Amino acid sequence: MENFAQFDLIVIGAGVMGSSTAYQAAKRGQKTLLLEQFDFLHHRGSSHGESRTIRATYPEEYYSSMVIESKKLWRELELEIGYNVNYATKHLDLGPADNTSLVSIIDNCRTHSMNYQILDRHEARTRFSGVVDFPDDWIAVVTELGGVLKPTKAVAMFQALAIKYGAILKDKTEIVDVAVDKHRGGVLVTGRSGDKFWGKKCVVTAGAWMSKLVGKVCNGGIDLPIQPVETSLFYWKIKEGYEVDYTIGTGFPTFASYGDPYIYGTPALEFPDLIKVAVHGGRECDPDRRTWGAAPLGDERPAMVIGYLKEWIKSTFGDRVDWEGGPVMRQSCMYSLTPDGDYVIDFLGGEFGEDVVVAGGFSGHGFKMAPVVGRILVDLALGGQVAAALQEEQIKHFKLRRFEGNPKGNVKGFEEQVRLR
Ligand SMILES: Cc1cc2nc3c(=O)[nH]c(=O)nc-3n(C[C@H](O)[C@H](O)[C@H](O)COP(=O)(O)OP(=O)(O)OC[C@H]3O[C@@H](n4cnc5c(N)ncnc54)[C@H](O)[C@@H]3O)c2cc1C
Repeated sequence: MENFAQFDLIVIGAGVMGSSTAYQAAKRGQKTLLLEQFDFLHHRGSSHGESRTIRATYPEEYYSSMVIESKKLWRELELEIGYNVNYATKHLDLGPADNTSLVSIIDNCRTHSMNYQILDRHEARTRFSGVVDFPDDWIAVVTELGGVLKPTKAVAMFQALAIKYGAILKDKTEIVDVAVDKHRGGVLVTGRSGDKFWGKKCVVTAGAWMSKLVGKVCNGGIDLPIQPVETSLFYWKIKEGYEVDYTIGTGFPTFASYGDPYIYGTPALEFPDLIKVAVHGGRECDPDRRTWGAAPLGDERPAMVIGYLKEWIKSTFGDRVDWEGGPVMRQSCMYSLTPDGDYVIDFLGGEFGEDVVVAGGFSGHGFKMAPVVGRILVDLALGGQVAAALQEEQIKHFKLRRFEGNPKGNVKGFEEQVRLR
């Protein structure tokens, strides 16, 4: 029998989820291998860049509790590595007073005893010294748990800590096959250049490539309902004299606006005098054939997105931010969208049984949860049923069986937030 490098756990995909998982496994003394198809910290997936929002205000109760737990874990990680990846500020949700998502968010604030304030237009103008405005029939919800996570820095942190606990990290290794090892049990993982690795267990965190990879592995037997979506985020210039008002340092919040479309952003932090404001949406794509934000001939959608953003900035920040000139910087990124916007965290099943765990479909809102997701994945991979039972409460909304006979998945009592345009 051939002798391959052997591991307790092989993790495929070194974005934030895979890197967090490798760290968690190595820290628990597991011989761990983390494999990545491109260079580590590349910009072709979902986990790169300068800012991601952390907020506990979700319409779904289960996400709020996961964020509260993740926030604690981010702090512990910062203490362990010795630098910050999370810059705290308040979070501001805006929208029509009768918006069903916003109403659910307020309910969840109560359920979780979160500190929150509901402000009308006049109160919000006073609270934010006149630099935030919205229509008379809208409200603002201000919560304490907000802030900016530094994505590339955080992924590098997970990888550095994984190495510290003895994990092996290997990039430039595209995995083309995952198979049951019929002789010795466990899983045999094969790279494009023919390298083979053996693992007792395997976790697949392949981001926008999840469906492609799992489809290949299972000979098309398992069709994961995870759609890659190409999206862009934009930075806008704050006009002279107002730069300080929109900085995280002076307490400007991370924000989300529950109109149509859903718009979100972060205060000035990563680039001086620039504020990030973007639409939560994008276009379906093949992760290996992206447009990188450029509009195919005759496609009006990118211009429409900029149009929405200009209107929103004009009515919310007024002439303090240069909306007329358009964004001064654009970055391209990918969402992995499920039909219900909920994550997929489950055993792959079939011939793999509980030896392979899949985690994807983070639907544009996964980054903040990486510490807790990594922990869940290691629990599932190492503990099988026992851990699954313990984690049942946290992951019951993320099982693949929700799509059986019901392609739309979990039923929600509020509007879709991601818009495909
Ligand atoms: C513009 C934008 C804004 C966002 N804003 C927020 C936010 O404010 N808050 C928030 O919480 N979340 C946010 N998100 C979502 C968050 O960034 C993602 O949910 C998260 O990064 C997903 O991480 P991942 O590890 O699943 O995927 P990825 O980062 O894509 O990692 C998957 C990795 O697997 C590798 N891989 C794939 N196939 C193979 C293979 N065959 N062999 C080897 N390696 C492979 C890929 O190369 C990739 O590195 C945002 C996302 C985007 C794009």
